[in-house]
Amino acid sequence: MSSVSNFIYPKNGVPSSKSKINSAPNPDVQNSRVKINEAVVKSMDNLTNDTYKLVVKCHDDALPFNSHAGQYATLKVDGLNKPRAYSFAKSPKSENKNEYTFFIRQVPGGEFSNWLDKNRTGEKIIISAPLGYFKLDDSKDDMVCIAGGSGMSAVNAIVEEAIHQKVKRNCYFFYGARTQNDLYLVNELKKISEKWDKNFKFEFIPVLSEEPKDSDWDGARGFVTDYFKDNYLQKGVVSADSCKAFFCGPPPMIDAGAKVLKEAGVAESSMFFDKFEDARSPAPVIDNSKCVLCDECLLVKPTAGCIVETAKLGKMKDNGKYADIERIDPAYTSGLYYNTLYIDEDECIRCYACVHACPAKAISPQYDVEPKTLRETVEV
Ligand SMILES: Cc1cc2nc3c(=O)[nH]c(=O)nc-3n(C[C@H](O)[C@H](O)[C@H](O)COP(=O)(O)OP(=O)(O)OC[C@H]3O[C@@H](n4cnc5c(N)ncnc54)[C@H](O)[C@@H]3O)c2cc1C
Ligand code: SF4
Ligand code: SF4
Repeated sequence: MSSVSNFIYPKNGVPSSKSKINSAPNPDVQNSRVKINEAVVKSMDNLTNDTYKLVVKCHDDALPFNSHAGQYATLKVDGLNKPRAYSFAKSPKSENKNEYTFFIRQVPGGEFSNWLDKNRTGEKIIISAPLGYFKLDDSKDDMVCIAGGSGMSAVNAIVEEAIHQKVKRNCYFFYGARTQNDLYLVNELKKISEKWDKNFKFEFIPVLSEEPKDSDWDGARGFVTDYFKDNYLQKGVVSADSCKAFFCGPPPMIDAGAKVLKEAGVAESSMFFDKFEDARSPAPVIDNSKCVLCDECLLVKPTAGCIVETAKLGKMKDNGKYADIERIDPAYTSGLYYNTLYIDEDECIRCYACVHACPAKAISPQYDVEPKTLRETVEV
C-alpha cells in the first residue's frame, strides 16, 4: 500500500522547502492538490456588527489554488493551535490576482473569529486550499439557494460563478437572518440580479426571524426554510422535479432545508451543501476493522494532524486521550508499517471530508469504536 500525505508540514506550520521538491510537477495532480501558502491580511471590514469581510493576499510568487466557487480554505494564525475552515466568499474569477475573500462571523469565545477583534491588516496568515466539493452544477434546473449567517459566503460565490458562466436558469436566493441589522451584501446582489439573463429570474429574498413586529420591515419574516416551503414550494413557484438546491450555513438550517425538499420529493442527488460544522459537532471516528488502507481520507484532510497514522496508541487515559501514540510519518518511513488510522479530535476541524471520501464507510461521527493498532492486536 502506498501512503501519501497531501501536506508537508514543518513543525512551525510554515511551508518548508520540501514543498518545492518536485521541480516538474504533473499539472493535473498539482491543480487538485491542497497547497499551503503564506499570506497577509490585506483588509478587514465590518459587514454587520458581528461579521467581517476579510481579504487575504498571498505572495506574488505563490502557487495558485485553482479552486472553484463553493470551495473553502483553512486559515491559521500564530498563537492558535489549529486552523479553521472558511468558505471562499467570491468566485475565483471575481477576485484580484492572489487575493481571497472570506465572510467570518464572530462566535462567543471563538478563538479565530475573535482574533478579528483587532485590526489585523498586514499580519501573517497561513492559507491552505482548495478544499470541499460544493459547486455549481451544470444543469438547466432552477437554482434554490438557501443561506444563513456567514453562509452567505459560499452561496455568493456560487451566484457570482453563475454570472460568469452566463447560466440560463432561474435562481431563488433565500437568506435567513435575525434582523435587518444582520443583512449585508444587498447592493452587490442587486447588481447580480441586473446582470442575470433577462429571460430568467433572479430573486433575492431575505427572511428575518427576529425582526421586531412594529419595525418598518415589509419583507419576509419567519424561518427561512419554512418561508421557502410555504411560499415557493407549496405554491408551485419552484417544482421539486426541476430544481437544484444549494445550502450553506449552520447545520440545523441545512438539515431543516434538506427535510423540506426531501418531503417534497427532491432527490438527494439534487441537493448540494456546505455545512458550517464547528467544535460542537462530534469528530468522526475510524472503524479500522472496515478500513482498507486506501489513503483516500489522507488525501482530502485539511489539516496536517487530524488523521494520524500510527503504529501504537497505548492505553486510553481518563480524559479520553491515548497515552502513548507512536506516529508514523510517511515522509520519513519506507517499506511496510503497521497502519492504523486514528482521528485526533483536538486537531479535527469537523469538515467531514474524510467521511465523504472513504469508499469503505469506515469513518463516521456516529461510530463509537476503540481503535487498535495491528501491533496491539497481533503479537509480532
Ligand atoms: C467547511 C466549513 C466552512 C466554513 N465556512 C465558514 C465561513 O465562511 N464563515 C464563518 O464564519 N464560519 C465558517 N465555518 C465555521 C468556522 O470554521 C469556525 O468553526 C467558526 O468561525 C468558529 O471558529 P472559532 O475559532 O471562532 O471558534 P472555536 O474556538 O472553534 O470555538 C469556540 C467555542 O464556540 C463554539 N462555537 C463554534 N461555532 C459556533 C457558532 N456558530 N455558534 C455558537 N457557538 C459556536 C464552539 O463549540 C466552542 O465551544 C466553516 C466551517 C466549515 C466546516
Ligand atoms: S472531519 Fe476528517 S478530514 Fe475533516 S478535519 Fe476531521 S478528521 Fe480531518
Ligand atoms: S479510513 Fe477509509 S478512506 Fe481512510 S484509508 Fe481507510 S478505507 Fe481509505
